[in-house]
Amino acid sequence: MTSRPADAHVHSEWSWDAGSDPASAGTMDRTCARAVRIGLPAVIFTEHLDLDPEWVVEEPADIGTTAQRYVDGQGRVRLPPFDVEGYLEAIERCRRVYPGLRILTGVEFGQPHLWAREAADLIGSGVIDRVNGSLHMLPYQGSTRTEPTSLYHSRPADEVMWAYLEEIPRMVAGSDSFEVFTHIDFAIRTWPAERVGPFDPTEFEEGFRTAMRALAASDRALELNTRRLWPWIPQWWAEEGGRAVTFGSDAHRAQDVAANFPEAVLMAEYFGFRPGRRPEDFWTR
Ligand SMILES: [Zn+2]
Ligand SMILES: [Zn+2]
Repeated sequence: MTSRPADAHVHSEWSWDAGSDPASAGTMDRTCARAVRIGLPAVIFTEHLDLDPEWVVEEPADIGTTAQRYVDGQGRVRLPPFDVEGYLEAIERCRRVYPGLRILTGVEFGQPHLWAREAADLIGSGVIDRVNGSLHMLPYQGSTRTEPTSLYHSRPADEVMWAYLEEIPRMVAGSDSFEVFTHIDFAIRTWPAERVGPFDPTEFEEGFRTAMRALAASDRALELNTRRLWPWIPQWWAEEGGRAVTFGSDAHRAQDVAANFPEAVLMAEYFGFRPGRRPEDFWTR
């Protein structure tokens, strides 16, 4: 039997985009229960660590319905801080209730190249097992930042995609605090296909490959984000010298934990990645 990796990118009620929905209460507990039920060996709760004091959205819908309470009339978003203490207590509680499941701590650190100083205490404290680095936002109207979904309203789609890909080497060069780069397909999630046609990765191949080379040269792992599976991601990653991958569902609800993992594991194996000793170890080639 193929060995099963940890889900290394999971959110719970301690992430602002889930926790703003009252229905999310108890998500960590339900996620653990589901992980046990489906035979998943380990879960890493990588909650959002977004330190930008303020950012903007063009339309309230850009941020998703559950988080719209954080948007004011001018489209400015101010997020609540990550409640580390509450989160760690919830982790401890789940470890007691689900002793057969490996439960690790983590953060999904947004734009780590911009907020190293602000995050240093938490990341250096030793309580965080895994730091996923995420690029969610790009410069917008000079001094502020926003997500690709907002940029797509007013800028040509290919320009937004190139800006996203070109920021990745800058993020790599500007931060040593993250060990895994998440969802390299983030800007594809909201690609305006209805306006410009379906996304074609070959149009941006050199951008993806350049970003991957920077990540590989800095010895980081690439997450295979299983929300959508793209065989060209592990293929190009391996071809550009990538040595390690993780598997992340990016679940914000219990029922989504480890979604599409059987297919993602086959894909990783096909391109030569093999499991480590523990389920949370990187798969390497
Ligand atoms: Zn993310
Ligand atoms: Zn996430």
